[in-house]
Amino acid sequence: AERNPGQPEFLQAVTKVMKSLWPFIQTHPRYAEHGLLDRLVEPERIVMFRVSWVNDQGEVQVNRGYRVQYSSAIGPYKGGLRFHPSVNLSILKFLAFEQTFKNALTTLPLGGGKGGSDFDPKGRSPGEVMRFCQAFAAELFRHVGSDTDVPAGDIGVGAREVGFMTGMVKKLTNRADCVFTGKGLSFGGSLIRPEATGYGTVYFAEEMLNRMGRGLDGLRVGVSGSGNVAQYAVEKATALGGRVVTVSDSSGVIVDEDGFTAEKLAELMEVKNHLYGRVSDYAERVRVKFIPGKRPWHVPVDVALPCATQNELDEGDAEQLVKNGVLCVSEGANMPCTPEAVKCLEDNGVLYAPSKACNAGGVATSGLEMSQNAMRLSWRRDEVDDRLRIIMRSIHEACLEHGQREDGGFSYVDGANVAGFVKVADAMLAQGVV
Ligand code: NDP
Repeated sequence: AERNPGQPEFLQAVTKVMKSLWPFIQTHPRYAEHGLLDRLVEPERIVMFRVSWVNDQGEVQVNRGYRVQYSSAIGPYKGGLRFHPSVNLSILKFLAFEQTFKNALTTLPLGGGKGGSDFDPKGRSPGEVMRFCQAFAAELFRHVGSDTDVPAGDIGVGAREVGFMTGMVKKLTNRADCVFTGKGLSFGGSLIRPEATGYGTVYFAEEMLNRMGRGLDGLRVGVSGSGNVAQYAVEKATALGGRVVTVSDSSGVIVDEDGFTAEKLAELMEVKNHLYGRVSDYAERVRVKFIPGKRPWHVPVDVALPCATQNELDEGDAEQLVKNGVLCVSEGANMPCTPEAVKCLEDNGVLYAPSKACNAGGVATSGLEMSQNAMRLSWRRDEVDDRLRIIMRSIHEACLEHGQREDGGFSYVDGANVAGFVKVADAMLAQGVV
């Protein structure tokens, strides 16, 4: 804690991972040698920079930009960029630390990174968003590259923003390298990349439910958030026979007992992705219930898919879910459940799996985008989706392999942490103290 003052999210993430790794390290002491653990809790490099740009009123605006290049032990740094006023070093270090293990779980050669800015895209005109993205990319381009560090989207950064940044990086480097993933289809993007995180979260939930001898068919599903991950989680859960009864944003929750349909989802996407509106606007359009200021977790569901942001599901929410008989929680967002919530879910026998396993489908498909770019080929939709499904299944298997506890219990958290750690740690040990 003395080394990382004022970084509670980073300390929370490191503490959680180290607690879960500890029994494994005690029985495999070579992983505590060569300063491995000390090196693992220190990012390889952090870049912080000024982003100045001019708003529509002609006023100069100054934001702060970051790129945390956490680990290149198994491949180029890889992880999204987040534009949100809450962005700070603690949040980005936590995300980059988690990303390192998540990327290891994907079975692909991807290191870990994360970046972003405290810029708030809400209420900004398209011209302002473009100028901000260009100003951000005008510094970021020095630190990234298709074999060095490959950023992508995250909260507040979708295909539009990735497009603007790609354009600026190309202009400055005079190279057509595909330095970002999540690009538009006409300039190197991959089919299924926009869908991948949400789809993967649902595929993972299905794998968990299959262990109980059932699928999603006929189950009530609660989703939080209404952005990229949430939208495609809704789509896939509905396609697999689930009834999705909630979505939300930071202003409140939609409760729809009839469940989502393809038509309703198209309306939600129109409101969120094209009109940059709120879920309350969606509620008005399709005449469903909107409860301001509430989160989804009081609504009874069999499967909960938190897809909004970190620490959005606390102990009280978890207790409520358990009381309502929840079977399975698959994390679409990064670290949405607080440590107390996780304990409550695990203690009550809920099938709970952490984000680094459940939402790894997004970065895995980014890895597939990199492969297609390197080959200068594009795979068909069904080819990418099949690979995504296989990757999610193998992540689930890796969790099963490493998740057995000495007391006979089983934990997806331990499984995901140990499986990701072993791959990164083996690579670090083989490459010496660097
Ligand atoms: P988006 O920006 O598309 O959507 C974010 C959603 O979360 C919005 O509905 C937003 O509502 C809501 N939200 C944000 N902050 C809060 C809050 N404090 N309380 C309630 N709701 C909130 O982002 P993504 O869908 O891409 O990302 C969602 C999560 O998934 C993040 O944790 C991200 O790190 C993670 N993730 C994303 C991946 C991807 O491929 N996109 C890959 C892996 C993880 P509002 O508009 O009101 O802010």
